[in-house]
Amino acid sequence: MFDALSERLESAWKKLRGQNKISESNVQDALKEVRRALLEADVNLQVTKKFIEEVRSKALGAEVVAGVSPDQQFIKIVHEELVVLMGETDAPLAHRENPPTIILMAGLQGTGKTTACAKLALHLQKQDRTVLLVATDVYRPAAVDQLITLGKQINVPVFEKGTQADPVDIAREGLAQAQADQIDTVIIDTAGRLQIDQDMMGELAAVKAAVQPDETLLVVDAMTGQEAANLTRSFHEQIGITGAILTKMDGDTRGGAALSIRQVSGQPIKFVGIGEKVEALQPFYPDRMASRILG
Ligand code: GDP
Repeated sequence: MFDALSERLESAWKKLRGQNKISESNVQDALKEVRRALLEADVNLQVTKKFIEEVRSKALGAEVVAGVSPDQQFIKIVHEELVVLMGETDAPLAHRENPPTIILMAGLQGTGKTTACAKLALHLQKQDRTVLLVATDVYRPAAVDQLITLGKQINVPVFEKGTQADPVDIAREGLAQAQADQIDTVIIDTAGRLQIDQDMMGELAAVKAAVQPDETLLVVDAMTGQEAANLTRSFHEQIGITGAILTKMDGDTRGGAALSIRQVSGQPIKFVGIGEKVEALQPFYPDRMASRILG
């Protein structure tokens, strides 16, 4: 997935190979390569600039360590900073002591939001948690049916009221149902649009205000590249997210979204989607992702 990025970074290390220490002049070329690598991988420009400055100051301040070559030392610094960029610790899902825990899913149409609802439900079910899926996407004709089908597939109940009801009412009633049935976690699928628009944001805000979720997860398609940063920023400013699920990481993504989301929103990526199947979801580990990027 990060092949191009890893390959590019390789030429950054080369700039330092054979040198006896990291200096102002030789680190400059290596940093230029890292900068180019990140921009080519669709990392947001602001995020890239900040990253380069952090690496520069750490690299120039680094002590010469016996037996460690400057390129190895530089790789270590880049690795550490990548981890910082993506979030130093893993970010588990909120889990309310008095159930139900409420998870609101947000995102543009086609990002994999409905699929992610089912993936997350299955993930929680495997931890012996009971789940109720709630279908509030009343605009995309097949969305409710899709959630019903996915629910059947994983044996998780779906609360729905067709496509004529009001999304806020559906969410409220779904929550009441979960309380009555003593369900542990409610996952609410919401409507997406092809682009951000005020109707969508207004409705999302209304559903959020009505159910007061413990998590508001933004589903981001990793293939959107540069746009992922702006999208995340808009959703966070307007709705307030607590994390993201990055989907389609199995595709031919250049990786930029994975590196930008945390920086622009301050919120962690919590899961990655790695395929169309309901099982294709993994928790996001910044450290492992950094290692993969560095090849
Ligand atoms: P929504 O409009 O955001 O609810 O999107 P859907 O859940 O309907 O997904 C849109 C398309 O993306 C479907 O064809 C899904 O099978 C596919 N999809 C979702 N997640 C992934 C993923 O992680 N990897 C791949 N390759 N495809 C995915």
